[in-house]
Amino acid sequence: MKEISEKQKRMLERLEGRMYYPERAIRYLWEFLREEKQVDEPLDPRWLDIWKKYERYAHEAFPQGVIKEIEKIMQSIKKTDEEIWKIRVDNNTKIVFLLGAGASAPSGIPTVDKLLSELWKRARKIGREDLDRLAKWCDDRQITNIEDLLTAAYISNFAATNRGITSLLDYFLFSRGRELAEEEEYLIRRSLPVRTTIDVSSISFLQDTLQTLFGLLTSTMISASPNTTHNTIVDFIKEHKNTSIITTNYDGCVDEAILKNGIHLKGTIGSESEENNADAVQLIKMHGSINWAYCDSCQDVREFDLLELKETYEKDKLSYPVMGICKNCGGLRRPLLVPPLSFKFLMFPNLIDIWNSASQSIEEADYLIIVGYSFSEADTYITKIISRSMSMKENQKMIIVNTNSILVPTLRDRFSAHIDGFDEKRIINVCESSEKILPDILKSILGKGEAKSKSRSARKKVKEEER
Ligand SMILES: [Zn+2]
Repeated sequence: MKEISEKQKRMLERLEGRMYYPERAIRYLWEFLREEKQVDEPLDPRWLDIWKKYERYAHEAFPQGVIKEIEKIMQSIKKTDEEIWKIRVDNNTKIVFLLGAGASAPSGIPTVDKLLSELWKRARKIGREDLDRLAKWCDDRQITNIEDLLTAAYISNFAATNRGITSLLDYFLFSRGRELAEEEEYLIRRSLPVRTTIDVSSISFLQDTLQTLFGLLTSTMISASPNTTHNTIVDFIKEHKNTSIITTNYDGCVDEAILKNGIHLKGTIGSESEENNADAVQLIKMHGSINWAYCDSCQDVREFDLLELKETYEKDKLSYPVMGICKNCGGLRRPLLVPPLSFKFLMFPNLIDIWNSASQSIEEADYLIIVGYSFSEADTYITKIISRSMSMKENQKMIIVNTNSILVPTLRDRFSAHIDGFDEKRIINVCESSEKILPDILKSILGKGEAKSKSRSARKKVKEEER
């Protein structure tokens, strides 16, 4: 297959960067497609987004014939690499799924960008004025991301309970360039904590806020049920045991789909006894889970039975044990949910084993099937593991199932910049909703979708002949 030309890349960047008025942008788009593009040059799926953005202006300024012509070209743009239908596995092929927020969105779980506004709505319902004020504060500063908020709350919580750290923060943020007071110098020399401006009431407000936010967060997730994506993956696992699942989601959708099929889990916090069970599926929840509890005081970590927990919650039988009292020490327990921070290691030493096994699984994979995961800036840790693995293992391939058409071109650029002689075809683009396309893909990979895939290319041939 021919590659996309430099000229096309430059044109895409300009049009995406909104450097032109709509009318001029459409003219450039049309000129490129009609004259400048080489005959057999493939078109990047990003053209679809660009056209969607400018289409409405086109109707005012361009003849109907031109618009029809552009639409025809847009329809011919392939969003899914044909390569995907040629992949087959045998027992030795290791498959690793990596699931992100996009995989759970159809289950009614708000994605990261919508989560915070959903939480504020719920906070208002329970009549928490303090949270209302916090919502306004975030609003004023354009903090719209739950991850930023959780990160800030974690940092302050961590700093508040580690006075030495607080003074260190104080030192880095405020003391540079100013003379230390005599008292401060005395304390530092003796490695004693320097007095800081944080008072006890702000700490308890913080703890309380964090606890309430976790409660609200959990309530948006606990009643969600698995969707087609989760169920399809479980059907696949039944046929292909050499599979692991890694997820950055806190919800219990994929766990539920697996457990309800009578399959055991391993790799979670409470499943040590299953480690040698060949029939159990490895499920690695990198950012924690709504059924994992963590005690701030004694750092005890434990997992509650997900299905039991859902029932408890839905029937309102007992209070939700994840946010209860620690059996070890009597301290307060909260759900073990990790915001994507680059220094997660420092704050959740209990999860190091889990991150290590994620890293190991990724390195063993022949195919990484990445569904609804957006490679966010805050997750550099995961991106680094994948990048290292792709550079070490030359035959490893990634299948990216994501509706964002910019993702694959961006990843191809990024990996090419980091890995010498990187073959961009190792990243296979499936730019469609996973609920729609994943069932076909996984059947085809198992060699069961033969008829379908044939009819697909047959259909394509007919279409091409018609032109
Ligand atoms: Zn405890």
